[in-house]
Amino acid sequence: ALPEANGDFYGQLAELGAEQRAVAASVADFMRAHVAPIMNEHWSRDEFPQHLIPELRKLDLLRRVWNEDGTRKSDATVMEGLITLEACRVDVSTAVFFGVHAGLAFASIALGGSPEQKAEWLPKMLDLEAIGAFGLTEPEGGSQVSQGMRTTCRRDGDNWVLNGEKYWIGNSPFSDFTVVWARDVDTQEVRGFIVRTGTPGYSVRKIEGKVALRIVENGHITLEGCRVPETDRLQEVQGWRTTAEVLRLTRAGVAWQGVGCALGAYELALRYAQTREQFGKRIGEFQLIQNHLVHMLGNVTSSLSMVLRLSHMADTGQMRDEHASLAKVVTAARCRETVALARETFGGNGILLDHGVIKHFADTEAIYSYEGTNEINTLVVGRAITGFSAFV
Ligand code: FAD
Repeated sequence: ALPEANGDFYGQLAELGAEQRAVAASVADFMRAHVAPIMNEHWSRDEFPQHLIPELRKLDLLRRVWNEDGTRKSDATVMEGLITLEACRVDVSTAVFFGVHAGLAFASIALGGSPEQKAEWLPKMLDLEAIGAFGLTEPEGGSQVSQGMRTTCRRDGDNWVLNGEKYWIGNSPFSDFTVVWARDVDTQEVRGFIVRTGTPGYSVRKIEGKVALRIVENGHITLEGCRVPETDRLQEVQGWRTTAEVLRLTRAGVAWQGVGCALGAYELALRYAQTREQFGKRIGEFQLIQNHLVHMLGNVTSSLSMVLRLSHMADTGQMRDEHASLAKVVTAARCRETVALARETFGGNGILLDHGVIKHFADTEAIYSYEGTNEINTLVVGRAITGFSAFV
């Protein structure tokens, strides 16, 4: 019998705790049973399979990461990472849907909400009864959004009036609310708001024509004189510091996306190399193909070590911005190299959706650029190690 296609070559995942392995296995089963059979159809239609949300709810994944009061479990980052990895192994879009809701949107309320706001939203979010989105990026730019935010808010009695646009906002075409970040015209401070779907002046247009992460739905949000009650302003937000804290919490998860995506692509390529025949041999018998596979495996193995260590640092309070940025830079770059080699191993079949690997290839381009582009995360690390900021 041929060796099994398992990219956990050093047994790093097999060594984790029993509960962590059980959660990872439940996600792997869900992906295999429910997502894999329909993902190509949804990819072709540019549509998120909302009908799977009740099935996903049964796994109760958010409660493995968060407590009811919005504090994090002691192994939250490792657990989030494992959920992300197992989802990305099959389909990155599913992990992004989850990461936007359970990471960015949930963390915004957990870190920035008052006790009343947490009590209203967190239980519904834990149960996937209310789906959240996170609106930070704007059409004029993502990298500079901390300095160049154009969306404004202005206090008007018991309300706030929001004006501006948000772009690329994952889940927003069907979410129940979006956390919108806006600059106060009077104090220049950044504030966060829970904007409920259906609020007059808030509209979402689905972004069409993506060639990566097609199963995630991203929206272009317009805010025109949108009135939000003071009670829906996130009461504990301390300006940009809170936004940055939310991004820091979720960046480790994005580093895990690169690992899961690379792992999935490697396993597909290995299986293909073990069965596809040319010149009377399995292509896996050729030295050049073995070289591809070993290169991919090295990337996956080193990236997995890196995110496991990073997550342990996050869960024990040792992780700084630059630590998360370095992992995001390295795992995204190694993923890009890995999915290209995997695609190459499939020859022409590699560009067919049915063979799976091209979806990983395309999705990697989004991983490379969001949650801080490769350049911006590089500059975060560069600033930390040299003491010089090269941003502007
Ligand atoms: P730009 O900022 O315009 O950058 C363009 C290029 O210039 C990049 O290569 C960048 O690295 C480089 N660059 C910019 N400044 C510098 C500098 N100082 N030095 C060197 N190089 C520089 N945002 C949300 O708020 N919510 C979401 O749910 C969300 N989901 C997303 C989903 C997808 C699929 C994508 C693609 C994006 C999503 N984003 C979301 C936005 C994402 O975070 C931004 O795309 C990202 O921050 C980069 O911003 P930008 O695309 O405007 O690129």
